[in-house]
Amino acid sequence: MSWHVLGAGSLGGLWAARLFRGGEPVRLILRDRTRLAQYRAGGGLRLSEGDITSLYPLPAETPEAGNPIRRLILACKSYDAEEAIASVAARLEPEAEILLLQNGLGSQDAVAARVPRARCLRASTTEGAYRETDFHVVAAGAGQIWIGDQLGSHTPPAWLNTLTELGFPVRWTDDIDARLWRKLAINCAINPLTVLHGCRNGELRQHLSEVAALCAELTALLEAMGLAPAAQGLQQEVEAVIAATAHNRSSMLQDVERGQRTEVSYLLGHALPIAGRLHLAAPHLTELQQRLQTRLAERGLPED
Ligand code: NAP
Repeated sequence: MSWHVLGAGSLGGLWAARLFRGGEPVRLILRDRTRLAQYRAGGGLRLSEGDITSLYPLPAETPEAGNPIRRLILACKSYDAEEAIASVAARLEPEAEILLLQNGLGSQDAVAARVPRARCLRASTTEGAYRETDFHVVAAGAGQIWIGDQLGSHTPPAWLNTLTELGFPVRWTDDIDARLWRKLAINCAINPLTVLHGCRNGELRQHLSEVAALCAELTALLEAMGLAPAAQGLQQEVEAVIAATAHNRSSMLQDVERGQRTEVSYLLGHALPIAGRLHLAAPHLTELQQRLQTRLAERGLPED
């Protein structure tokens, strides 16, 4: 049974290359004919791990290709996810399974609403990868991938074992939303501040009172949502992440430095309306979002 990977960027490239070299049938879905021609001109997908770069000649196609899709890995950014799934919706088999790699929250529900018959699984990953150039991905950090069912089913998909056998650091969880919310909270406490201070994660140790105020509001939000386990020890974990990733630039800072749209709408932009609906005051998070939007506008970037 073939895999399709939509989006041959950082994570999509990493996943597709690992599936391909493990002997799995896998096809890339690229945006359009121009991207497909560029990909073919380069001879395939390059993956660098440490000092070794390998070229994998994966087959690729556009969304308009005719073959049906049974297993799809959606590997685009959150803000592209809905349009991307719409572009292949007609090709999905009735029993199709879709793995959503998007960070933050909000895009997963939008995708599921577009394809109500498909089984949508959500992933939360701490693996890191970046694009050296188009279709050349660098594996930048080991991590853990949690996978769970959008609707809370306790049954892992049959292919989870295949991924494990191929060396993917995957684990099943019955509560993927709690994991995604925990990651969202950590991202909200770190990423926007790194943009506002223009700093690597570690430099936030000079701004710990700001971090603490954000963590307090995020903790209250998670608790009010009935996600107390995801709230537990949030500030301590945020401080541990800041220390462990001291030399890293957050993904949001990297987006801003590259002049790319951020995923803020799926982080702060997802959390704040929920806080509002729960009548929770979140003045520090609100001010953080406003300051961030101002900074994005100054840089000529979308505020959402
Ligand atoms: P990325 O490097 O920007 O790759 C996204 C890819 O999606 C690009 O190749 C883009 O194509 C493609 N794409 C977008 N719309 C498409 C469409 N309609 N049809 C076909 N392809 C389309 O992004 P990423 O870093 O892999 O991030 C993907 C998601 O994973 C994000 O939500 C991110 O937060 C999350 N994540 C990433 C990492 C990481 O280390 N990279 C870690 C954890 C989570 P073009 O090249 O043509 O624009």
